[in-house]
Amino acid sequence: MIPVVVAENLERTYEMNGEAIRAVRRLSLDIPAADFLALVGPSGSGKSTLLHLLGGVDAPSAGTVKMGDVDLSLLSESQRSRHRLLHVGLVFQRFHLLPMLSALENVELPMAEAGMSKAVRRVRAAELLERVGLGDRMRHRPGELSGGQRQRVAIARALANEPDLLLADEPTGELDRTTSEGILSLFQGLVDEGMTLVVATHDLDLAAGARRIVRMVDGQIDAAA
Ligand code: ADP
Ligand code: MG
Repeated sequence: MIPVVVAENLERTYEMNGEAIRAVRRLSLDIPAADFLALVGPSGSGKSTLLHLLGGVDAPSAGTVKMGDVDLSLLSESQRSRHRLLHVGLVFQRFHLLPMLSALENVELPMAEAGMSKAVRRVRAAELLERVGLGDRMRHRPGELSGGQRQRVAIARALANEPDLLLADEPTGELDRTTSEGILSLFQGLVDEGMTLVVATHDLDLAAGARRIVRMVDGQIDAAA
């Protein structure tokens, strides 16, 4: 099967006060279709940095990230944002929903940015909210939803433009255990339907529910794990 993402010899160095921090070093990783990969490792080991490189949120200092025929490391910043909008879904620890918009409007937003008509995106946003179990909360604003419900809205929004890859950074970091289990089941269901998912997490139960675990240490994949 052709991998969804192929990362080769990735490097990301941050310059801080004249000091170079190698957040990701010479890291190579293939992510096959319908993978559910959990990235684990201590705080500061480079998990978020790697997710950002895989999703085109950030560009590598060296090395390549390919999704299909597209080499993300060769794109300009605006090309990368376009790629992200159309091909990558992002889920964050703190949801990043717009507080003044309803669940429905939050999910519609990426489709509006992609140029989808109002009628089509409204129907699709409603379907996505049904899919994540929030058919009865569409008109609620984030402040009127629980943490788990907000994360479900964020997942629906991440799926809005039918991404090839879903990336989640500590998606259960703000949630209690029972709610986290619900998010894990939702992720597993999406992977069963063919979604490709990479999750950076400290949540061992979430990692245990993934198809495979990659452990990072000091910006590299821990070969011993
Ligand atoms: P993790 O997600 O595993 O906790 P990160 O990818 O956030 O790790 O960070 C990896 C390393 O890169 C850490 O040493 C961190 O301090 C550093 N780092 C991350 N982002 C930046 C940044 N924007 N500027 C400078 N250093 C950063
Ligand atoms: Mg992180």
